[in-house]
Amino acid sequence: MAICYIALGSNLGDRKKNIKKALGHLAGTKGIKIEKISRIYETRAVGGPPQGKFLNAAIKIKTSLSPQLLLKTIKKIEKDSGRRKSVRWGPREIDLDILLYESMIIKTRGLVVPHPRMFEREFVLKPLREII
Ligand code: ADP
Ligand code: MG
Repeated sequence: MAICYIALGSNLGDRKKNIKKALGHLAGTKGIKIEKISRIYETRAVGGPPQGKFLNAAIKIKTSLSPQLLLKTIKKIEKDSGRRKSVRWGPREIDLDILLYESMIIKTRGLVVPHPRMFEREFVLKPLREII
């Protein structure tokens, strides 16, 4: 089982419900076990078009899924959670990002880990600090 950290964010619709729903989907996925959940923080959107505030959280999981399979899984959860708009850095019902996967360094076209922008994003680091 690999230890992995995932960031969750939402700034469209019922934000809290979206985050809880995504957590439920993750918890119900075979090969994923949620170990720790941070508190939920409200943060101002960074970059992208003008948009509403986010709720952000981070979780620690143990998983038997490979990084690629985990990415596929979170993309499906985003889709199932009603995420339609895919403007980069735009508003979204739910955004799930893989922050860290063990100590792996991954640089493929579809997946970069550690998440390249996590270190400059207080809204990622703050919840992460709680659970790391
Ligand atoms: P962002 O999260 O940067 O606002 P998106 O959520 O729209 O942007 O994701 C765009 C793409 O980023 C996804 O299709 C995914 O393939 C890619 N991606 C690259 N690295 C990661 C990662 N570590 N976690 C999640 N998605 C990633
Ligand atoms: Mg994303």
